[in-house]
Amino acid sequence: MTQSICESPSGSVDQRADAAHDAPTSASTSNSPANLSVDLSAIDLPTPADETPAEVSTTVIPARAEGFASFGFAPELLEALTAIGYQEPSPIQKAAIPELLLGRDLVGQAQTGTGKTAAFALPMLAALDPAQRTPQVLVLTPTRELAIQVADSFKSYAANMPHLRVLPIYGGADFRDQIARLKRGVQVVVGTPGRVMDHMRQGTLDLSGLRSLVLDEADEMLRMGFIDDVEWVLEQLPSQRQVVLFSATMPPEIRRISHKYLNDPAEITIKTKGSDSSRIRQRFITVNGPQKLEALTRVLESETKEGVIIFARTKAITVTVAEALEAKGYDVAVLNGDVAQNQRERTIERLKNGTVDVLVATDVAARGLDVDRITLVVNYDIPFDSEAYVHRIGRTGRAGRTGDAILFVTPRERRFLGGLERAVGRPIEAMEIPSNATINQSRLDRLRQRLCDGLESEGRDEEKALLSEILQRVAQESGVSADQLALAALQLAVGPQPLLVQGDESWIRQNSAGRDSRDSRDGRRQDRPGAAGQLRRGPREQSGPPESGMERFRIEVGWRDRVKPGNIVGAIANEAGLNGRSIGRIQIFDAHSLVDLPQGMPDDVFQGLRRLKVMNRELQISRSRD
Ligand code: AMP
Repeated sequence: MTQSICESPSGSVDQRADAAHDAPTSASTSNSPANLSVDLSAIDLPTPADETPAEVSTTVIPARAEGFASFGFAPELLEALTAIGYQEPSPIQKAAIPELLLGRDLVGQAQTGTGKTAAFALPMLAALDPAQRTPQVLVLTPTRELAIQVADSFKSYAANMPHLRVLPIYGGADFRDQIARLKRGVQVVVGTPGRVMDHMRQGTLDLSGLRSLVLDEADEMLRMGFIDDVEWVLEQLPSQRQVVLFSATMPPEIRRISHKYLNDPAEITIKTKGSDSSRIRQRFITVNGPQKLEALTRVLESETKEGVIIFARTKAITVTVAEALEAKGYDVAVLNGDVAQNQRERTIERLKNGTVDVLVATDVAARGLDVDRITLVVNYDIPFDSEAYVHRIGRTGRAGRTGDAILFVTPRERRFLGGLERAVGRPIEAMEIPSNATINQSRLDRLRQRLCDGLESEGRDEEKALLSEILQRVAQESGVSADQLALAALQLAVGPQPLLVQGDESWIRQNSAGRDSRDSRDGRRQDRPGAAGQLRRGPREQSGPPESGMERFRIEVGWRDRVKPGNIVGAIANEAGLNGRSIGRIQIFDAHSLVDLPQGMPDDVFQGLRRLKVMNRELQISRSRD
């Protein structure tokens, strides 16, 4: 089944709002332009369109929905939504837009994929004053990828508002260019906290006329060490402003921020359909690093699947894996931080319509990806924490279907399985690397299925008649039986490559033998080094060499600069375009620190990191000899 991009994102809503806000009948808010009379009486909170049962704890706005028009948006906004294929508001949009149009603060617990961007962007665009040239909306995001994505969404919604300017600002991009654009006048700024702070300090970002601040993926900002920066920004804002906080999870620190800075916020919780892992069969394969590619092709050969996503740790690995699969004849696409937004959308569309069956992606690039025909997720590299694992496997088993997830673990990584099992609340079964016999059986099964499908297929009558004429002629001329003829036709369908594999499989047995003797599952630990929880490891806890696939770097910032691991993670993740979780162990010493980063860092990224400043000190990153 393919899913149209026009379908609304789904989820179920749990909304808490004051009685005073429970049933607004009409509203024209101070934030709304004078000509916008918002009639909210025609809105209700309907159930989502997908198969997942909705859990709507409180119906907040009783009335009828008539798509986006019922929010009272201006025609240019409605036309833009129609042009990009939005027909019905998603549950979070139905719940949040009326509250935000009223000028309320809001706390939303929702993930990417629910339509949360439009939920805040649309009412904020509706309330903008095009005559005011200083920023009226500021969105803070944890990564530059998300900043670009959110800015692109704003631009597409504002396609018919020619005077409106949206600017993404993030570290690693040219500062002067950002200053020039800010000077020319910008109404919406979407940025990462560090760069936004830099502009505010330099006086190049004037927030005196700000109406709304959005904290997008607040928990991710916390994890990446940006929360002090976020609070600093919050402290500088005008006292009359709207604050909206979106977060996938609500750790106490985020709750504290919400209590401190938000004024009587409406609260909305969206339960995403991808979070139910009970429909997903989860297995793991123990495999040594150098044999992962061979194991992967064997898995793809033996598992008959519609669409497949393969998760790799770094951009470089996504490319290596994709090239190897392409060489084996697979139609493969790559989704990583280097893929531009428009290309990303084309890739997802190709995956949806079946032009491409295999996608190799990094965590960040595949965030929120919602494609029904994904029936297998391969975790080629183990994710850095259980949250990432849950997100990855949630890319399959969508829309009420079942799915499969296979995790590759090296013998040393087996000890982290327990933590993942606890996170999903169920065991992850052991699986062998498919042997030649398994693959051959699977190939025979697929051939049989193709033959059966061929018998049932309608076909084009004219062509069928011609084909059957050929068969009769060959039979007459050669005098062979119908069976012999059918066999020859089947061989033709198989093609010139041998149907059965006979490659070396002795390494598979060695792999399992080594695994059994070295790593009993009982001995495995809960967390892997490099997970966010271990970032605070100090120099006294000597750490040994970096994990496989990682490289150790030295940076010239340490305790004396009062640096915290989060500062390092946030700065490097943004500059290098990495997911914060893919940054490994950090050891902070008095005047320097050691950071483990994925191997294969491109030179331009390395040069960018040399000049990057953390706690006002250049990192001067170098490859560590410690
Ligand atoms: P988000 O959660 O904001 O990242 O949105 C997830 C995806 O859903 C994006 O591709 C949006 O363009 C799309 N989307 C958001 N709202 C709607 C809607 N009402 N109808 C159709 N697609 C939507």
